[in-house]
Amino acid sequence: MTKDTVTPLRKQVPCPQCKKQSTRDTYPFCSRRCAQLDLGAWLSGGYAISGDSTDVPPDGNS
Ligand SMILES: [Zn+2]
Repeated sequence: MTKDTVTPLRKQVPCPQCKKQSTRDTYPFCSRRCAQLDLGAWLSGGYAISGDSTDVPPDGNS
């Protein structure tokens, strides 16, 4: 029986987005906003592989 579920709560990591102190709730970010910012950047960077703008709606307004 070993306690392997010890969490290093003392380790404070600065927010990758704004370098503020992170909180436990939004670790490793300082707030949810920064977490979403980072997630958004990651998603847009990972999904936008092909730069084809084929998502443009058909021009039927003129
Ligand atoms: Zn932040």
